[in-house]
Amino acid sequence: MHALLAGARRKQPALVRLARRLVLCESPSGSKLAVDTCTKLAAAHARQMSGRVKVHPQRQFGDVLEIRFGPRFTSRRDHAEPVLLLGHLDTVWPIGSLKNMPCRTRDGRLWGPGTLDMKVGVAMAFTAVEMLVEADLLRREVVLLLNGDEEVGSPVSRPITESIARTCEAVYVLEPAQGLAYKTARKGIVNWRIDVKGVAAHAGVDFKKGANAIRELARVVETVSGWTNLARGLTISVGVAGGGTKSNVVPAEAWAEVDVRIPRMADAPRIANRFADLKPHDPRCTLTVTGGINRPPMERSRGTVGLYQKARSLAAEIGVTLEEASTGGGSDGNFTAALGISTLDGMGAVGEGAHASHESVIIEHLAPRTALLAGMLAS
Ligand SMILES: [Zn+2]
Repeated sequence: MHALLAGARRKQPALVRLARRLVLCESPSGSKLAVDTCTKLAAAHARQMSGRVKVHPQRQFGDVLEIRFGPRFTSRRDHAEPVLLLGHLDTVWPIGSLKNMPCRTRDGRLWGPGTLDMKVGVAMAFTAVEMLVEADLLRREVVLLLNGDEEVGSPVSRPITESIARTCEAVYVLEPAQGLAYKTARKGIVNWRIDVKGVAAHAGVDFKKGANAIRELARVVETVSGWTNLARGLTISVGVAGGGTKSNVVPAEAWAEVDVRIPRMADAPRIANRFADLKPHDPRCTLTVTGGINRPPMERSRGTVGLYQKARSLAAEIGVTLEEASTGGGSDGNFTAALGISTLDGMGAVGEGAHASHESVIIEHLAPRTALLAGMLAS
């Protein structure tokens, strides 16, 4: 590990340069053209490193980039199964964000849109693989999979991620660390939409004939919010709501979008039943509930804990105490973990402000974390 750490320190300036190039290439999930430009940059870098590049073309979102390094996996007799490095090149930041959030190093940090989530993580992965190739330590095939739709729920990349993950022994996710910790559990995400239909009427002339859809929705919001169980880690948050037309009209329509986080897969059918059983308080109103699970929870499996323990002991060799953490946020690791594949997450950069204007990465953690990533790929 000490040799890897020294190597990572030597490569740190090049790592930051690569990260900067990726950050300067703005890539909001909604702009296929922009994401594809960033993907091409990553593909060109991979080819320079003699990576085997395969592009999975997409219509609506950015193309998905599959890069393979190291010996080709043929059979279990000859090699260990591949390891999947999972990342994304899209960000939540619209084009032009660099104007107010310039990409620069200051106060020991690299700042800019998409630094922490997760272009620096992608640059770390390239660097870790490069170190292993140069030291002839890459004994197994490594697949680096970069998509362009993660920030909108991975609608098109999910099947690609899942089919490649099924051929791999383990999945390392390049999302940011939780503080200084790797992530061994993530909650699942379930999205619901509630539509209320009431009866419109003049608010002054025909008040009694109206069935107020917004009032009905308010009751429903109160009901579903009450299902939150913090001790269990189950949360229900109504995130968006709307309804009505004019203040003097009793509204006939109202709607809400609900974000539900579940720590265990077993919570999914239970909560689905409760949503399905919702009844209107005012019988003249009707409720329509649609939606379902977006990302299954990444539960703290034995395989994931095993990976974490390996990482913890490698980190200790270079004087780093590596903790584990769980989070309510989802990632593509939720998909691979749900397939039963050992998945360790949060192996990317250390920093602050993902999806926020102070998004930044702490530079002093780059070398040790990249060395640790390399160590995990080599062992
Ligand atoms: Zn991310």
